[in-house]
Amino acid sequence: MQTKREGLVIFSDIGNCAGLKKAANLSSSDILNEIRSSNLKGRGGAGFPTGLKWNFVVEDRSDIKYVVCNADEGEPGTFKDKVLLMEYPQLVFEGMIIAAFTSGAKEGFLYLRGEYKSFVPSLEKILKEMRKKRFLGKDILGKEGFHFDIEIKLGSGAYVCGEETGLIESLEGNRGEPRNKPPFPVNTGYNGCPTVLNNVETFAIIPHIIAKGADWFKGIGTEKSAGTKLISISGDCKRPGVYEVEFGTKIKDILKIAKAQDVKAVSAGASGECVPKAQFSRRLGFEDFSTGGSIIVFGKKRDMFEVTENALRFFEDESCGQCTPCREGIPVLLEGIELIKKGECPKDYLKDLLSLSETMQLTSKCGLGQSSPNLFVSVINNFKKEYTLSKIPKEEKAFNG
Ligand code: SF4
Repeated sequence: MQTKREGLVIFSDIGNCAGLKKAANLSSSDILNEIRSSNLKGRGGAGFPTGLKWNFVVEDRSDIKYVVCNADEGEPGTFKDKVLLMEYPQLVFEGMIIAAFTSGAKEGFLYLRGEYKSFVPSLEKILKEMRKKRFLGKDILGKEGFHFDIEIKLGSGAYVCGEETGLIESLEGNRGEPRNKPPFPVNTGYNGCPTVLNNVETFAIIPHIIAKGADWFKGIGTEKSAGTKLISISGDCKRPGVYEVEFGTKIKDILKIAKAQDVKAVSAGASGECVPKAQFSRRLGFEDFSTGGSIIVFGKKRDMFEVTENALRFFEDESCGQCTPCREGIPVLLEGIELIKKGECPKDYLKDLLSLSETMQLTSKCGLGQSSPNLFVSVINNFKKEYTLSKIPKEEKAFNG
């Protein structure tokens, strides 16, 4: 596997804690303005504007605030945060410290995926070194009253704890189940306090924006997707790995980087859109081909329904079962795939399955249920030649009874 340590943002060199050193001489509102004007969007998948998120926490009058880094990377095909945590942990911590300085938080947590437990000693070592250099602890960089420290907390392997409120529940020692929103973590987060919660990659970008400026950052990428994206490429290609790619790059150019040939389709992970070859001129970005970090490559021989079934089985296992569209919907889609594979799915029932998918996308309580039908829907729409529908109407086998 490759890690191409070249890139315009994250893999560029800004020097030892250059972002933090600069931030310490700015006011909270200066930093906030810089982040807002950079147009940085969260890299965890949802793409919420980071500056706006921070602004809610800054404006909250509470005395106690927190910064939490979501390092619960658990989707099949996604391993780019792993590389950041192994090779650029100081950059991630630096981003968290800048968030603390901006928001007034005194305590922070790195919520680490349980399967990444082996990283803890090296991460603790970095934290210790940062404390020694006064990047963490009391009066950071000699700035009176700027106290902040970071603790590492391990998850226990539930994918749903990557959802921000599920993560907070888990951090508080509860079962990791997503909460109803609103209220949002920016006001009612960890221990009921305002919390800046961002993904590993988002925090790793912050020092670069502060060091080099918002204008530099938004000059990279596209108008709606500023900067670059770290992507984990896996599947049928010669050079799977982690790469930093500018937003706006065409899918076909990403495939060249990974040395992928005879490709039938790519998907934005298990929960993303699946794009056929005819659409490889589409571009990476929130406004077009959007991914939280995974690009899975499928060669000519892949059975797309087998791929979809695997993804749905993963979500069926990981669903917390709290809400009906997700808990009941995923098994119905799996049954539908069985029928499609056997050529026994009538057209009207397929329509029902697509309508169920839409209901799941719109009404599931969290991102797991909302995104679980994405692959199914795009495979049905884009790979029509790969299935034959039954002409015999299916007896009333509706998912509601
Ligand atoms: Fe749980 Fe799924 Fe509902 Fe999310 S969508 S709360 S994982 S049942």
